[in-house]
Amino acid sequence: MQYIAAFDIGTTNVKGILVSQDGDILGETTRPIHTYNEENRIEQDPEEWWKAVFEIANVWWQSGFQPEAVKAITLSGQMEDCIPIDGEGKSVRRAILYSDSRADSEAQRILAHLGEEEIWRKTGNHMDGQMTFPKILWLRDHEQANFSKTACFLISSKDYVIRQLTGRNITDPTSAATAGMMNLVAREWVSNWLDSFALESSYLPELLAPDEIAGYLTEAASLLTGFKMNTPVLCGMGDAGATTLGAGVTELGEMYAYLGTTGWVALPTDEISLRGSGIFHLAHAPKDLLIAIAPLLNAGNVHNWALSVFGDPNLLDSQEGFAYLEEIMANSDPSIRQVIFLPYLNGERCPIQDPEASGSFVGLRATTTRGEMCAAVLEGVAMAVRQVMELLLGENEIRRITLIGGGSKSRAWNQIIADVCDCNVVVPKDSEYLPALGVAAAGFVHLGWSDSYADFSRRLLAMRPSEQYLPKERNARAYGKLYQNYLQIYPALAILSRQVVEVEMASR
Ligand code: ADP
Repeated sequence: MQYIAAFDIGTTNVKGILVSQDGDILGETTRPIHTYNEENRIEQDPEEWWKAVFEIANVWWQSGFQPEAVKAITLSGQMEDCIPIDGEGKSVRRAILYSDSRADSEAQRILAHLGEEEIWRKTGNHMDGQMTFPKILWLRDHEQANFSKTACFLISSKDYVIRQLTGRNITDPTSAATAGMMNLVAREWVSNWLDSFALESSYLPELLAPDEIAGYLTEAASLLTGFKMNTPVLCGMGDAGATTLGAGVTELGEMYAYLGTTGWVALPTDEISLRGSGIFHLAHAPKDLLIAIAPLLNAGNVHNWALSVFGDPNLLDSQEGFAYLEEIMANSDPSIRQVIFLPYLNGERCPIQDPEASGSFVGLRATTTRGEMCAAVLEGVAMAVRQVMELLLGENEIRRITLIGGGSKSRAWNQIIADVCDCNVVVPKDSEYLPALGVAAAGFVHLGWSDSYADFSRRLLAMRPSEQYLPKERNARAYGKLYQNYLQIYPALAILSRQVVEVEMASR
């Protein structure tokens, strides 16, 4: 048996799997990662990622897998990190993570200097303080001693592990797409932007395609990990790209939604459009495609909130708690529903960009039940999903969407999404390892085990067990009407929520 070893260097943990030529997943192993979180400073120690990788590999050898059976190593990881390393490849300080917002004023400086239009035209994205470019400027201006030790800034957590495995400084176009300094169409760094901030482009890693060889396993890495020396290590890709591949979304006309704590809806596209809508564009693994991603700040966290308010207080944050919630809304009929819920508990990024937006129930009556309110909450998120789906699709239509992430464990919610969006919903089973499986696709393409990413998806992902939810005609009709009212709520209430914030500020 031959395998590809695939690792996903995530935020809460590192996951490793071995994938056989038939697409079977073996040796699933996970190691937790600690996050240092102080105010708006969110950091991790890159050595922990590296340690997790060699610990996982050693679990495999102890379970009887043979290192010579591993034909390639491939990795996915967090994007928008800033990981300064020295000439030996060791981290100069802890990695500044994507969620860290210390570089907001540097992002404003870049915006003022380059202009929003130019940034959008080249990168296909807006500029914000989460991106790597402003974080590099922050480090140069605030930590000169660390900056002077830095030889290269890596961008994804998996780039650091690849450096330890091979000695090469590389990254991939998916990770680089939200670093804030890559020409998205040409898939190369915009060197003159770096010049204009007196940064040399030698500080940036080389850009390689996900299925290209980043390097071969060094003797030192072989001693630690147990993998054979000279095993090819591929460039891999940022986790959003790997998740898109793992969801089987490789061609135009396909779409998926990720319902994690927060979420996103994404599809492959061949053009940059929808400026100002909050949509991001990434380079997809198939070279001729981009991924358009609509981020949602309100997804599983909203379901969890419903659980904390309407659920059984003894069953919070448990699968029993979720089941209880589904029970109390079981007989709720959308054709007589009057309550609509706007799900913006945490503000929203797309299709509106309003950090002050808030959640609202509209249409409460003396007869409204707890079950109806719960159903309205889950429907509200489904309507937010439909709204960004429509934004992404424009004139195009879609009849099927894949749903992944923790939220897709809720059967009731999956059916609501099928009914509200009036399309078939497919939920792959055991989606926890989808990003690692997605990045394994790069290995399949590299080794010639698959002709293309689309071939990998058709032959190996479509065969995996999944559940299907078909829209129920009566419900879809009822939701169609409620959705038209839903669309009116934010514009009608936005002025009010801003006034509430202003009153709060004034009373401080
Ligand atoms: P993340 O890595 O973003 O936390 P996950 O894919 O692990 O994402 O999803 C976590 C989310 O899934 C949480 O918001 C949790 O409330 C939600 N979740 C987990 N199980 C269920 C369930 N059975 N029904 C609904 N939501 C669930």
